[in-house]
Amino acid sequence: MTDRIKYQLDESRMPTSWYNIAADLPVPLPPPLHPGTLQPLGPSDLAPLFPNAIIEQEMSTERWIDIPEPVREVLCQWRPSPLFRARRLEKLLDTPAKIYYKYEGVSPAGSHKPNSAVPQAWYNAQEGVKRLTTETGAGQWGSSLSYAGGLFGLDVTIFQVRVSYDQKPYRRALMETWGGRCVASPSNETEYGRAVLAQYPDHIGSLGIAISEAVEVAAKNDDTKYALGSVLNHVLLHQTIVGEEAITQLEMAGDDPDVVIGCTGGGSNFAGIAFPFIGLQLRGGANARKRRIVAVEPSACPSLSRGQYAYDFGDTGRMTPLVKMHTLGSEFTPPGLHAGGLRYHGMAPLVSHVKELGLIEARNYHQTACFEAGVMFARSEGIVPAPESNHAVRAAIDEALRCKAEGKSETILFCLSGHGHFDMSAYTNYLSGKLVDQDYDEKELAMALSGLPKVG
Ligand SMILES: *Cc1c(COP(=O)(O)O)cnc(C)c1O
Repeated sequence: MTDRIKYQLDESRMPTSWYNIAADLPVPLPPPLHPGTLQPLGPSDLAPLFPNAIIEQEMSTERWIDIPEPVREVLCQWRPSPLFRARRLEKLLDTPAKIYYKYEGVSPAGSHKPNSAVPQAWYNAQEGVKRLTTETGAGQWGSSLSYAGGLFGLDVTIFQVRVSYDQKPYRRALMETWGGRCVASPSNETEYGRAVLAQYPDHIGSLGIAISEAVEVAAKNDDTKYALGSVLNHVLLHQTIVGEEAITQLEMAGDDPDVVIGCTGGGSNFAGIAFPFIGLQLRGGANARKRRIVAVEPSACPSLSRGQYAYDFGDTGRMTPLVKMHTLGSEFTPPGLHAGGLRYHGMAPLVSHVKELGLIEARNYHQTACFEAGVMFARSEGIVPAPESNHAVRAAIDEALRCKAEGKSETILFCLSGHGHFDMSAYTNYLSGKLVDQDYDEKELAMALSGLPKVG
């Protein structure tokens, strides 16, 4: 058989360090600022929220950071993840392009998120932390952290956005199966939650509010820290194992991508697949090549393509540090969207920075176009993608169709960040014609942007 489908690495070839793009940036990342003083943050400012090892990683400019052995042992439960050549999709599209996808749905939680949940839980346990708090929207991060926390004896409290707490009981069941405790947010367990409920007793919740609640609990309890599933430098760092593996697997295949694609919510799976390739380019040498790197986001929440590059808060309660990022404003509420994991108002500072440096492109798609691509993918490759991942599938298909029109045989790599087994109701809506494309409200965006904090 010559037409190879899967490129698998032996466990012994799993990367032993993460790649830190901060080491290779031609211009350093603008620093995060203290929300009160507006001065650059020092490590001690983050100490109430994160363990020291994570703070070090957040600020590090070391190029390679060792993956601790106990973390590698857990990651080996599903890593190295497979790289597929999408031969059946190529045939369906009748394209001369070669399409590869790195499949992260093989993790216990069904997405890339455990790649960071496991090291975060381990570092916290090492430093004597007893409990982790976090937020979750669709439930993917909450379930990943429940799984990882349980492995290292940590209690995990998850503030789950009220609307998904009510509408997605299976997600909650998964979090509870792994030992996590879910609290519908806004809740009565925090001062901020109580203040929101006093004003709006039926509030459906938002990620920004849930982050404020989780941060408040961690800040007020010595034995409790906070864990974030995307956006921050250390989370992006942990995801680079995805792109590092892909580089080795594409070498096995004798290929090198002309286009690298990832969907972006907070930016972590995109950075995971993309940063190791950007690093090859930034460092120069034999493997340096200009590859197109494409970030794909929903048209209903287009922070990279339509947001302002400015200092903003990560949460609605304005408790987090200010970071410079592409943002729609921390008050922005995107319209209902099935790709819940992409509904965040901001973008990772590192992803925003490489966009400003011209190292990546951004584009956005409406959700019906993404589900159409996801169904084509499922009917050819078999795997049903997560609604978030459908954005990357759409872009990969469009690039392959461009290659067909131009008669070019380019190599396309995308990250299939997760499977869609928890999101079949979204597919039901799509297949029954009930899915509508929603644009965000321009007036609301203008208002949210006018509320950006003033930083000199
Ligand atoms: C959470 C999630 C995303 C978006 O988050 P990023 O931090 O941008 O990666 C994408 N795909 C899946 C399957 C997710 O669960």
